[in-house]
Amino acid sequence: MAAGNGNQPDADVPVIGYCVYCRSRQPMHGAIQVCTQRGGHALKGHCGVCGRAMYRLGGWDSIVASTQRGGRDAGVSSDTEHA
Ligand SMILES: [Zn+2]
Repeated sequence: MAAGNGNQPDADVPVIGYCVYCRSRQPMHGAIQVCTQRGGHALKGHCGVCGRAMYRLGGWDSIVASTQRGGRDAGVSSDTEHA
């Protein structure tokens, strides 16, 4: 019942998002998948450095895809060029 809202992948996939407060990419903690108004997916969580709320376009699928494609540095390079 606790995990009813955001479905997470099996592995502990690191999520990197852009923190507007740190003005740099930071690890996203407590990320959950949400639906956007455009019908897509996004991840909501909080910055692992400053703890403020952060947001990343693309759901778990894009996270997993980027990790499989780019190795450990997933999401560090331009991750939304095809979107
Ligand atoms: Zn931050």
